[in-house]
Amino acid sequence: MRIWKKAAIAALALAALPLGSANAQTYPSRPITMVVPFAAGGPTDTVARLMAESMSRTLGQQVVVENIGGAGGTRAAGQVAKAAPDGYTVLMHHIGQATSASLYRKLPYNVLTDFETVGLVTDVPMTLIGKSALEPKTITELVAYVKDKKDAVIYGNAGVGSASHLCGMLLMSAIGTQVTTVPYQGTGPAMNDLVGGQIDLMCDQTTNTTGQIKAGKVKAYAVTTPNRLKAMPDLPTMQEGGLKGFEVAVWHGLYAPKGTPADVIAKLNGAVKTALLDPKVIARFADLGTEPVAQDRATPEAHKAFLAAEVAKWKPIIESAGVYAD
Ligand code: ASP
Repeated sequence: MRIWKKAAIAALALAALPLGSANAQTYPSRPITMVVPFAAGGPTDTVARLMAESMSRTLGQQVVVENIGGAGGTRAAGQVAKAAPDGYTVLMHHIGQATSASLYRKLPYNVLTDFETVGLVTDVPMTLIGKSALEPKTITELVAYVKDKKDAVIYGNAGVGSASHLCGMLLMSAIGTQVTTVPYQGTGPAMNDLVGGQIDLMCDQTTNTTGQIKAGKVKAYAVTTPNRLKAMPDLPTMQEGGLKGFEVAVWHGLYAPKGTPADVIAKLNGAVKTALLDPKVIARFADLGTEPVAQDRATPEAHKAFLAAEVAKWKPIIESAGVYAD
């Protein structure tokens, strides 16, 4: 009788714990899925795999990357928004999490209210690149070429909502010419076709383009950030190429479904912050033309505020370009 009473009291005490606390003490007790909203082999995938490897060591459980491409990253984001909020499904997304809120007339989720932000990871410049046989040698020649050839020029992107789509959209509106766009599940496969010469142009993160540019497999025309890159000091900026005000930097951040307990988010965030100080991650990021964000930006709060600011920043730009997807 006494033993029964003790057990009953213990059970009651457990039930009274805030939701998730019991879980968080043992979390993670099984592998975590890190969803990448683009195909394997692309820049978001590269960042996710580097982070997952380091986070696995910190968390003592495998963080397994799963690629779910399609609809410019919104297909995967929609799936993660609806996943169990238990810390076993997370999403490594990029700037598209903010721009898709304006690019899509109807998204089946709300980017600001259906996710917990875990922390920002890295900011990555983009480069405008062409197939190696493309005639123009400079960004100025390229602009004239695109204006002349128009829709005979084939631009590859990762679908509406992707960074490559955003960059192409800004380019076309800056030069007042529409080219033919071909959507891929990610810029990993698009890069294969650019190197193979099946498409002409692409804009993508340095995490995917640095190696191909240095190996001479693609032609580099310009960088999308206001300043030149340390790693490629000869490459002009888009603004130097005459495209006034042209500026895009891709940023990556980690998300969990809304309602994931705060102590689980704190554990995930601790692993993110540790990864960003990991010398292996820092060295690999440097090879890929980027660096981890500072620790004070790698917090759930800073990420949340930044996401909201990015949604607000891109809304009028996208509206004035008049590009929407249903
Ligand atoms: N870089 C791509 C984009 O947003 C996506 C990817 O990582 O494959 O265009």
